[in-house]
Amino acid sequence: MAEQGKDNFRDTIGTLDKEGQRAWVFPKKPDGKWYEYRKYVSYVLLAFLFAAPFIKIRGNQFLMFNVLERRFNIFGFPFWPQDFHLFVIIMIIGVVFVILFTVAFGRLFCGWVCPQTIFMEMVFRRIEYWIDGDRGKQIRLSKMPWNKEKIKKRALKWTVFFIISFLIANVFLAYLIGSDQLIRYITEGPFKNLSTFISLLIFTGVFYFVFAWFREQVCIIVCPYGRLQGVLLDKKSIVVAYDHKRGEKEEGRAKFKKNEERATTGKGDCIDCSACVHVCPTGIDIRNGTQLECINCTACIDACDHMMEAVNLPKGLIRYASEDNIEKKEKFKFTPRLKGYTVVLGILTAVLIGMLFLRNDVEANILRLPGQLYEHKGEFIISNVYTFKLVNKTVNDIENVSFKLQSHKGTIKQVSEDHFTIDGQGLAQGTIFIEIDSRALSSDKDRVEIGIYSNDQLIETTTASFLGPRSFN
Ligand code: SF4
Ligand code: SF4
Repeated sequence: MAEQGKDNFRDTIGTLDKEGQRAWVFPKKPDGKWYEYRKYVSYVLLAFLFAAPFIKIRGNQFLMFNVLERRFNIFGFPFWPQDFHLFVIIMIIGVVFVILFTVAFGRLFCGWVCPQTIFMEMVFRRIEYWIDGDRGKQIRLSKMPWNKEKIKKRALKWTVFFIISFLIANVFLAYLIGSDQLIRYITEGPFKNLSTFISLLIFTGVFYFVFAWFREQVCIIVCPYGRLQGVLLDKKSIVVAYDHKRGEKEEGRAKFKKNEERATTGKGDCIDCSACVHVCPTGIDIRNGTQLECINCTACIDACDHMMEAVNLPKGLIRYASEDNIEKKEKFKFTPRLKGYTVVLGILTAVLIGMLFLRNDVEANILRLPGQLYEHKGEFIISNVYTFKLVNKTVNDIENVSFKLQSHKGTIKQVSEDHFTIDGQGLAQGTIFIEIDSRALSSDKDRVEIGIYSNDQLIETTTASFLGPRSFN
């Protein structure tokens, strides 16, 4: 681990040594209240992550991101290329959400929800503790020559890592191409779908590389969200923070001497035990302040609380706190600013949910045939010709589909049959004529409203322009 001076701040990232080489982090196994909470959260999230592509709602996969075919399912709602505007709005809401959330609550997401942290800290790291042992044993093992014990442990760990990476790659593929497709490929065997199998192995390789070797570098170097922290956090943001006022006091931190009454010495409450540093999975010293590398994993809170308990000092020297909380010694308050952000986040979430529920299962586009004017049919009847495109966004067939004019008295005639079926996730297109009595028109270019019915149930309405003569009546 990168050696850090007591009084000097670093000028390199925490996982590089003086020669610019990777300084491998051997974090001590966390243990404590927050770690327990995070374990429970991780169980729920892992179950969700693995189950989501296999859950179906009204026949639609719960979550799917089929980039190749531009088909996305979010919470069982299918999104088509026609829904791109909605998708963009969701993305914008997502970005605003992330910004507001981060300004108020710091990197809470990184420590508790991010799949990288969940897999790294709650799956791969725990397997590593199980096979290699805790920090001390891991350091010893890494320095050991390639003897029988090391070969056995490394072979076991890398095999387990590979199997889990392969599992994750399968689930990842289920998100990308759909779980039905994946199950079909698995039952048909890899050699019938060689290109998919090769993609699967490439994904496995990427996951293996990330979790077996690249690790915390993802959060420090690659993740754009992590790099945004510098501009998003302010003095009121709640982060995992070291209470430097309490930790340093007038005389600074100092090692604890047996039977010492720290409160009467003028020394800070930090006993300089380095427990918070040894436990940190990104290899930093939180006592240097909020840093880019900190993923708010809470491991240092637990480690420090144990030390405080051991020397009979109050817990919470490292805790969730804002800079203002620490500087002004104010207790955490749900400030009007935080309340405001929470309300905005609540409204955005409600808007998003509303948008999803108000969305129709059918997308209708009816356009007047370009270059065509109206046509007289008898003394007063005016006819316009249109092309229509109906997209069925559900997986079920929509049967007995017909058109009815809603806004004007008139008729809609289809060129082919009057009633038709739109296949699940399919498209129906054709030509229709709309005929309206010119005396019912209010201008030479009226907006007409057309209802799309399935079994006489209105399933969608759309509008189109209707041309008529300049002088009517
Ligand atoms: S400083 Fe603490 S909260 Fe931040 S990454 Fe390290 S152990 Fe986790
Ligand atoms: S664990 Fe707490 S007492 Fe120990 S060095 Fe870190 S901040 Fe100081």
